Amino acid sequence: MSDPATQKLIETLRKAVSRTSMMAEGIDPQLDLALKEIRNSIASNVDSVAVNKVLKDLEPKLLKADKARDARAKKLRDTLHDLVDLLERIPNHSVPQKQKKDFLTKVRSHWQSMHQWPDLVESCIALIEATLEEPDEEQPGKRSLFKKLFSKNDSNNQGATEQNHPHILVDVAQTLTSLLDNLSLPENFDDQISDVKSFLNDSKELKHIPKMVAETTNLALIALGKNQQDLTSYLSQLNSQLASINASIVTSYKSQKTLTNTRNDFNSSLQQQVSDTTTDVSQATDLNSLKNLIGDRLNTISSTMDQYQKQMLDQDKQAAQSISQLRNKVSRMEKDASTLRLNLQQKLAQAMTDSLTNLPNRAAYQDSILPLCNMNAKSNGQLALAVCDIDHFKNVNDTWGHLAGDKVLRLIPRQIRSALTEKDMAFRYGGEEFVILIPNTTPDAAKMKMEAIRQAVEKMPFNVQGQPVPITISIGIALLTGNETHEELFERADKSLYVAKDQGRNQVVFSSN
Ligand code: GH3
Ligand code: MG
Ligand code: MG
Repeated sequence: MSDPATQKLIETLRKAVSRTSMMAEGIDPQLDLALKEIRNSIASNVDSVAVNKVLKDLEPKLLKADKARDARAKKLRDTLHDLVDLLERIPNHSVPQKQKKDFLTKVRSHWQSMHQWPDLVESCIALIEATLEEPDEEQPGKRSLFKKLFSKNDSNNQGATEQNHPHILVDVAQTLTSLLDNLSLPENFDDQISDVKSFLNDSKELKHIPKMVAETTNLALIALGKNQQDLTSYLSQLNSQLASINASIVTSYKSQKTLTNTRNDFNSSLQQQVSDTTTDVSQATDLNSLKNLIGDRLNTISSTMDQYQKQMLDQDKQAAQSISQLRNKVSRMEKDASTLRLNLQQKLAQAMTDSLTNLPNRAAYQDSILPLCNMNAKSNGQLALAVCDIDHFKNVNDTWGHLAGDKVLRLIPRQIRSALTEKDMAFRYGGEEFVILIPNTTPDAAKMKMEAIRQAVEKMPFNVQGQPVPITISIGIALLTGNETHEELFERADKSLYVAKDQGRNQVVFSSN
């Protein structure tokens, strides 16, 4: 596929890979390096094979990134558990057990859901605050002892109470610092991390614990949420790109009217997928389901594209078939037309040819005479017309039979043509009469040719039943004058023929107007 829609899809996938790589950046230096290389390579390669390879290569690295995210979540969960344990160890304060139980249940069931984390942290802080406020009712003795030991300072200096639990504060600070250290947050968090760490170290009062927890977890949540936020914005961008792919596909096939039905199906299918993606993206709550969702969606869109492509190929095939059928039809028609033309020409030729002698007939003469008369005006010479008639032909028929007569008729044309050039024409005018046309000639040249014909016929050997039968012809000849019609010309030649007959036959008579 190399159409604009495919190019657009490949471009989108390329961007998707680029965005995914940016999203995963900052988790692991090695991954960062790989991602940078991937981005560079796909920036210069936009063909589908290269993009596919890049996507394949990226998959394990992203999985690793996801594992890192999981490890961070676990660390945060463990920190919350540790904090609860530490709470239990604060002297003179008791952890509200019901609240603690509810909180731990909540942690157990929601620690894997990113969007639940702010709520878990809030509950943890609430538990800490409740513990710090709660007087130790279960161990009144302990409380009394505490009061006894520190009553002096207790009344004057509230901070003294906390100062007597430095180990708790140190443990809390250590637990939270360890959380920050183990989150392996990107470098751009360095300043914030060191600020929070200083605050943890500087906190010397129990009442600071909620703030210590809040500051630390807030940073952890920002870091953990980074993936989520990036993915959500990436998904919404991808979604709008899918919509634009759709639009470009619709536009690119708009002109192909024959594909209307396929296009409409494809269009609405893709539109449905894009709108499904929009809805699902807004409803999906955790990273994994978002990842699966977009994966499914891309698969569906890709298979729709495949299906569409297949339909296009089918239609191309059908179109090619009908084009080839049409081509065959046209070539058949062309063949038919040329056969018809040939038949027509043959029929026309037949209609213009005398079947016995194979000479052009009287109809052909009628077609030829007028153009030749017209040409006569433009030529230097004159058009000569000769009428030839076989002498006493009736006798031949009567004596030797009609077939013998036919044979004579077939032999004469050869003698006539023997004295003529290519431009001269001979016709069987009717019965045993022939007409000869000699364009662009002189009286003498015409007379010579006719004389040659007469002699050739006279010399022609013709035997019937072993007996030589003499055959002769008489010829009347006339040359076209300036204002003469072809009928008048013929008439003059015919008159000369009769003169030749009258004068004893077997001779040429020239009409001198
Ligand atoms: P003339 O010298 O005066 O021309 O005498 P002729 O006998 O040739 O003239 P006439 O007009 O009396 O006779 C012509 C004959 O030619 C009559 C006819 O039977 C014969 N004829 C015409 N067409 C054909 C044909 O196609 N085949 C044969 N065998 N004879 C034909
Ligand atoms: Mg005759
Ligand atoms: Mg005759």
